[in-house]
Amino acid sequence: MPRRKTADSDYSIAGLETTMDDPSGDFSPEDSPVSVTFQASDEKNENILRPQYLEDFQGQRQLKENLAVFIRAARERGEALDHTFLIGPPGLGKTTLASIIANEMHSEMRMTSAPALEKPKDLAGILTNVTENSIFFIDEIHRLRPALEEMLYIAMEDFEIDWVIGQGPSARTMRIPLPKFTLIGATTKAGAVSTPLSERFGITGHLEYYDDEELKSIILRSAGILKCSITDEAASLLAHCSRGTPRIANRLLKRLRDFAHVMRADGVIGTEVVQFGLDRLGIDQNGLEKQDRAILRTIIDFYQGGPVGAETLSISVGEAVETLEDFYEPYLIQQGYLMRTPRGRMVTPKAYELVGAEYKGRADNADQGLLF
Ligand code: ADP
Repeated sequence: MPRRKTADSDYSIAGLETTMDDPSGDFSPEDSPVSVTFQASDEKNENILRPQYLEDFQGQRQLKENLAVFIRAARERGEALDHTFLIGPPGLGKTTLASIIANEMHSEMRMTSAPALEKPKDLAGILTNVTENSIFFIDEIHRLRPALEEMLYIAMEDFEIDWVIGQGPSARTMRIPLPKFTLIGATTKAGAVSTPLSERFGITGHLEYYDDEELKSIILRSAGILKCSITDEAASLLAHCSRGTPRIANRLLKRLRDFAHVMRADGVIGTEVVQFGLDRLGIDQNGLEKQDRAILRTIIDFYQGGPVGAETLSISVGEAVETLEDFYEPYLIQQGYLMRTPRGRMVTPKAYELVGAEYKGRADNADQGLLF
């Protein structure tokens, strides 16, 4: 079964490899193979660390408080929640929030990922199967094909789709009404989503990197669920090295549990286990990985500190442009090691210090106006 693109993904989406290849041009009213349905609180498919209700979801205080109000109001009016747009780097909780919204609304959720939707009938197959007030979650919505995007506009606004039957002069359009549903779209790249699509979302939530205290409480909660012991100090240290990202915090916690299991008779994760484990995993005290340092080093050694274009850089470091842009760069920028300028990526003096290279000032007069 294919897994989501992010390396540390913790669930898979069934049937992504399947396309609905129906030569008649009709779509099947059967359950679409390009989506997965969750009932509220469906334990079976969920990762056990994923919070199920808003009260377990740490951090993102303002977004969470606003969502609590909108969900309550929609539920008490017996209506579907407005379409919701979740924006933020990978691993910050967009999918988790979508499933929490479904749980809080006591409704089922269907989920898919935009790259899995190849043809209009893939999307039509799902839309005609959504139920009243249910949630339809599309991950990576910035990768939706234009023809499907148009179908989605109408579905979001008018709760219907136009379906063309037949070909040539005998073709006719059938208008299919849809139940009132909530679309939740998630993206790591808000700028790549077209304005007509983003304008059709009534609620927009930006997820920010988590601070150390928030990550620490996520780590302590996860340790409780995984039944592993971690000292308070070790949890703080691990939080600081988790790149502001719950998915990374949870992944590192699982690995440190393995180190503790082998290193210590009592299996407790103490600070020495965290230091040893992170060192073995190539993660430094700021949470930067080998590849982060390799990216900075490459810009310094081969491009005199930049500017260098994303495509060139991705080839130089052997990383997909998407992974570079979605995963590595946002954190390096947030931490002040990297800048995006109109002429490409440039490192800051802080990056020279990190990799132990001598900073000799800028070799050129690169325009440093920021792009984001
Ligand atoms: P995204 O969809 O943004 O890539 P996910 O929702 O898949 O991220 O989150 C990754 C993992 O991180 C989840 O499985 C969950 O265990 C954990 N997680 C994310 N956000 C939170 C949070 N606010 N509180 C607790 N755990 C979280």
